[in-house]
Amino acid sequence: MKLPDTGLTKKYLQELTNCSVCPRNCGADRFSDAKGYCNAGPGLEIASICLHRGEEPPVGGSSGICNVFFNRCNLQCVYCQNCQISTNSNKVNFPSITLEVAVSQIIKLLDSGCKALGFVSPSHMIHQMLAIIEAVHSSGRRPVIVYNTNAYDKVEVLRNLEGIIDVYIPDFKYSDSNLAGGLSDARDYPEVAEKALKEMFRQKGAPLIIDEDGQAISGLIIRHLIIPGQIENSLNVLRFIASELSTKVHVSLMSQYHPMPAVKNHAFLGRTITVNEYSDVINEMERLDLNHGWIQDQESASDYLPDFNNEHPFETMSNNVTN
Ligand code: SF4
Repeated sequence: MKLPDTGLTKKYLQELTNCSVCPRNCGADRFSDAKGYCNAGPGLEIASICLHRGEEPPVGGSSGICNVFFNRCNLQCVYCQNCQISTNSNKVNFPSITLEVAVSQIIKLLDSGCKALGFVSPSHMIHQMLAIIEAVHSSGRRPVIVYNTNAYDKVEVLRNLEGIIDVYIPDFKYSDSNLAGGLSDARDYPEVAEKALKEMFRQKGAPLIIDEDGQAISGLIIRHLIIPGQIENSLNVLRFIASELSTKVHVSLMSQYHPMPAVKNHAFLGRTITVNEYSDVINEMERLDLNHGWIQDQESASDYLPDFNNEHPFETMSNNVTN
């Protein structure tokens, strides 16, 4: 089979002919029409490369982070707030860009002052991410590399990222496998994510190392988005972090859930979280002594919705995270 010239190295391309990059383990040939669960091809399917300031303060420091948003995702959450870009529907065709184009856009942002380069939802695009990092390093730039993931990642893949990733920002979405199956088509999410988090914690430990500009240069931040009506799920997520990792881990508690049109009539996904629900989760966080991190202000949930049809998808969003 002739491998296309996508700017990825031959080694990476070979692995994509029998893809087991993520826990779906499809074995798909991503060069063929019969793709795997993520429906992603072998190339750089990138929705946006942009400056992003709407993260926890140390993620972008004083200059913001250059984030690379990949198209498609190895989870398909029915309530996804980034569904414009994350759908795996084969009715949506996301064109690839070349490595040269991607890297030149990244370098432009790095040279304008960004110190960090983040990859968002990269679990199905590990090889593409590595090709970008190699190319950026070859250009002589050494940004802080941030891996911003849904945590549906394989431990063996994460082990290969040791020494490459500076800051891990995983979600921990579900402790409840029924919820994970029903909402994200991944009943095994809790088991997979717990192992992935333990591996990230093994690599980074609890300390978040921050430089003189307030930029995180090494560490782990675990995000949790509270789902309306599913408070027990959230409480058990926090209990896992406190008991199996450390109470010193940085946790970012997010209240920004906003019902997307696809779930506006859903039994519990059709509303935002209530003040009482949020208090219950915050109280448990305090009871567990999880006091390193951030608690999002419970303001207009729609403030956090990006629009990937804009050249700057996040420019109308606010950053309301306090610690
Ligand atoms: S990355 Fe995509 S094709 Fe590969 S195993 Fe995961 S879902 Fe399947």
